[in-house]
Amino acid sequence: MLDIQLTRTAQGKPRPDPASLVFGKLFTDHMFLMDYHDGQGWHQPRIVPYGPLSLEPSCMVFHYAQEVFEGLKAYRTPDGKVQLFRPVENARRLAASCQRLCIPPIDEQDFVQAVKALVQVDLDWVPDRPGTSLYIRPFVFATDPNLGVHASHSYLFAIILSPVGAYYPEGINPVKIYVEDEDVRAVRGGTGHTKCGGNYAASIRAGARAEAQGYSQVLWLDGVHRKYVEEVGAMNVLFKVDGKVITPALTGSVLPGITRKSCLELLRDWGIPVEERLVTARELFDAAVDGRLEEAWGTGTAAVVSPIGELAMGEERAVIHGGQIGRLTQRLYDTLTGIQWGTEPDPYGWTVPVE
Ligand SMILES: *Cc1c(COP(=O)(O)O)cnc(C)c1O
Repeated sequence: MLDIQLTRTAQGKPRPDPASLVFGKLFTDHMFLMDYHDGQGWHQPRIVPYGPLSLEPSCMVFHYAQEVFEGLKAYRTPDGKVQLFRPVENARRLAASCQRLCIPPIDEQDFVQAVKALVQVDLDWVPDRPGTSLYIRPFVFATDPNLGVHASHSYLFAIILSPVGAYYPEGINPVKIYVEDEDVRAVRGGTGHTKCGGNYAASIRAGARAEAQGYSQVLWLDGVHRKYVEEVGAMNVLFKVDGKVITPALTGSVLPGITRKSCLELLRDWGIPVEERLVTARELFDAAVDGRLEEAWGTGTAAVVSPIGELAMGEERAVIHGGQIGRLTQRLYDTLTGIQWGTEPDPYGWTVPVE
């Protein structure tokens, strides 16, 4: 158990217009901070007014990117309560990310306690319009003022909160995706299975090029053979082929998404065959030609599911489900969002009340 010190802000910010929330631009009144120093371990957990941090220019994270983060949401249910979705999974994944980046891990229960405590302090920032939520961004980074290349001896664990609008205010529109054949996101043995900021830095260029050509995102291929599908943008990817759901196996270069995991658990519960394995882009385009590629979608906390309406690889085009969202994709979306916002029962015990 953390003994969290609370310093409230003297004056809260005005609440935003819930209709005009933009992702990640506006933050609540408070933030959580906790320090680490070799010999002392993680200490001084505190909730303080949200505001700038003071760091030396030599701060290690600026140079060597020793940093990891998480992303989850708090949802307001119809009875006005606030709940989290599988926060222990985020805690576990953060610890795994820390391990890979030589960062001292944060205890899983401390992580969940800190998230709950901060959301409680800013509880009235959790919006209540349909589809809106409070995005939670925990992150850990190296703070040694030192340019020597080795693991830092000091770190900061911070959590900030941002109210977000509905991801699909105009309804779900399937997106166009293109198979990236130049850049790769991750390789086995690297950091692809962790949520570290460096992965994102390396993926921005491909995403920008895709957008410039009229696509929403890229479909990443593996870094060695350049033929196995891994993820779509910063989401996991699932395909329905011949009545079966196929998704890239967690080989080390794929991020183990909690939405992916939840989809697979739902599908197995529904008796739909699921395969976690290597899958080539060629196999998918061949299936599309034969009419066997029935549905495709990305999964992630932000969008929940994002249907793919068209895939492009070189000169080839594969239109999926007539460019419309498929039935299984829609069912997964409805079920997951129903559980998250508490409009449907949660038989899996995935939701955790904030109190
Ligand atoms: C965060 C992330 C995902 C999705 O994970 P969720 O836990 O479902 O939000 C997928 N791919 C990458 C690269 C990610 O960073």
